[in-house]
Amino acid sequence: MTALAGVLGWPVRHSRSPAMHNAAFSALGLDWRYLRLPIPPGRFEESVRALPASGYRGANVTLPYKLAALAVATEATPAARAIGAANTLTFVDGTIVADNTDAGGFLDALPGSVGAIRALVLGAGGAGRAVAWALREAGAAEVSVWNRSSARASELAAELGVRHVEAPENADLVVNCTTVGLDPAVDQAEAIMALGLSNLTPPALVVDLVYGAHETPVRAWGDRAGARVVDGLEVLVRQGARSFRSWTGVDPPLEVMREAAHH
Ligand code: NAP
Repeated sequence: MTALAGVLGWPVRHSRSPAMHNAAFSALGLDWRYLRLPIPPGRFEESVRALPASGYRGANVTLPYKLAALAVATEATPAARAIGAANTLTFVDGTIVADNTDAGGFLDALPGSVGAIRALVLGAGGAGRAVAWALREAGAAEVSVWNRSSARASELAAELGVRHVEAPENADLVVNCTTVGLDPAVDQAEAIMALGLSNLTPPALVVDLVYGAHETPVRAWGDRAGARVVDGLEVLVRQGARSFRSWTGVDPPLEVMREAAHH
């Protein structure tokens, strides 16, 4: 029987995960299929519980269900527990295992180790939490978090044991974990100002979790200064690769996934 996986969210029509995972299954000759699973509000838990009996071996979870995904799980990885949210569920022998591969996927997308790095994380939502936790766990020399709503950043910082800053300051790595840049209609200079980056020199390494068909403002900010920029699609590919390995037990074909994610 064909093994199934899918992405649960509301909405999920723009997700690039089906193309990415189906390309990987077919490149490796695996009898698997990955489907979009739009779940209306209030139906998440019952939908997840029904998946294993329908042939599902795993699922990705996107907005607005990442917290609910952790709650429905019978087991959770340290990453999912510490971050308080899950983006990957694996169904094994009646258990539902929750993981957060956004954290590890972000680290995998970086060009090197973070040991000596002072990092500035912009944003204190779900992605900001995952990235701040990942950097701390990986032993970054310093992790600072800035958020538009300051209280949210100070809570996150206290909980995860990182620094909270009232205004962005110079660092070796800047990671945009806000939604700023998603809307291509917003002027790039305005977006950079909203993030408090206008008077900051871009560091050698910039990561923008936001991706789209347009050149995102944070990407352009880094590119203009000659920084190395890791884009959100690479992080997407790397988190997907980790999910793929959890479900199938097989090493993911990264280049195939990258190619599919870009189209
Ligand atoms: P979220 O939980 O809704 O958090 C949104 C964040 O954006 C908050 O920190 C919010 O600040 C900030 N924000 C929104 N509008 C802003 C503005 N005008 N100026 C400054 N800050 C603003 O979202 P999330 O789940 O963390 O996701 C954040 C982004 O990361 C999304 O674009 C998502 O697509 C992307 N992402 C990408 C990947 C990937 O694999 N590439 C993975 C995960 C997430 P306040 O608290 O002040 O509202």
